[in-house]
Amino acid sequence: MAWNWGVYQWQEQYKDGEKPNGLDLKKQFNAIKKEKFPFVYEVTKYASQQPFIQLQKSYNMFFKKQGGRPKFKKKGKSKDSFYIGGDQIKVIGKKVKIPNLGLVKLRENIRFDGKIMNATVSKIADKWFISFCIKPSMSYFEPCENQASVGIDLGVKSLATLSNGSFVDSPKPLKKYLRKIKRVSRQLSKKVHSRKKGDRTPKSNNYKKHSIKLAKIHKKIADIRKNSLHKLTTALTDNFQYISIENLNVKGMMANHKLAKAISDMGFYEFRRQLEYKSKLKRNILFVIDRWFPSSKTCCNCDNIKKDLTLKERIYKCEKCGIELDRDFNAGINIHNQLPIVHRKVTPVEITAMDLGVSLLNLTSIVEAGSKHQKYLIMSRFE
Ligand SMILES: [Zn+2]
Repeated sequence: MAWNWGVYQWQEQYKDGEKPNGLDLKKQFNAIKKEKFPFVYEVTKYASQQPFIQLQKSYNMFFKKQGGRPKFKKKGKSKDSFYIGGDQIKVIGKKVKIPNLGLVKLRENIRFDGKIMNATVSKIADKWFISFCIKPSMSYFEPCENQASVGIDLGVKSLATLSNGSFVDSPKPLKKYLRKIKRVSRQLSKKVHSRKKGDRTPKSNNYKKHSIKLAKIHKKIADIRKNSLHKLTTALTDNFQYISIENLNVKGMMANHKLAKAISDMGFYEFRRQLEYKSKLKRNILFVIDRWFPSSKTCCNCDNIKKDLTLKERIYKCEKCGIELDRDFNAGINIHNQLPIVHRKVTPVEITAMDLGVSLLNLTSIVEAGSKHQKYLIMSRFE
């Protein structure tokens, strides 16, 4: 709208033998906008500023024969958009504060930490979008230069178990949704089974309602998990130069519980994707161990393999050396010790010698521990 006004004025003034420019047009527009375009005045000053900057740029391109003559924009066809400077915008949780518009709810959280440089609000079809230009916080690019190493065992119940004895808890809402998903899928399967064979009548509305409900919970779980995985992978790549993970979620494969498997698989691929790109940025060394390595069944103390380990056994008891420890912790150490750096091998004995008071981390403290200098996330004690 401000753009179209600008293009029109430019053409007219040019015809009249004047030399229009973006800055003058903006001033002229501002002088009349209150009266002629009251709604512009209501939105934000950027809605009437940025188009003229763009207009000047487009005409410059046109004069240099680098682009076509600026055209009118059809409403609805080209996207309606306006620009907001970073200093004018504020993000509070899932809401964004836009000058003169107030708080606007966002559909999802902003994925990166960092300073918002600017944002563009645009309307595509009948939906509004906002894209942020973010300068990531230093931690995204600062190479991880310590010598610390870690092995990570991913789970469903706890999000991850680290070889230094830290347990990263799943976020609470996740547990709530996991219970919910079980309930809804049970209801849904009852509805499927109650149908007679060969019944070709369309599925009931109730059935459809339940499938939508189920899909929504799945999405919610994926989002929560993704979010907490981001926090975890940032903390890991900030604190450990050497990171060891498994190639496939073997434990998920072993589990007969289809749901648990699906959810942990999903998390696993996302976890690996995040770790890979963050490791590249921060120059961590990510080591992915062979998919057939029996990380759960191997004793991290004496390398004995316990073939009959069942999923129910939460405590790993080694019949050969007698050690007893949490099964995921055992797996985490094994995954760590697969790092091709021999002197780094750790045993649970060394770890119990550590101050275990800090080993039971939940995710919140991991997030706070995101800085490089948190001692308890760094395994330098083993060197
Ligand atoms: Zn043993």
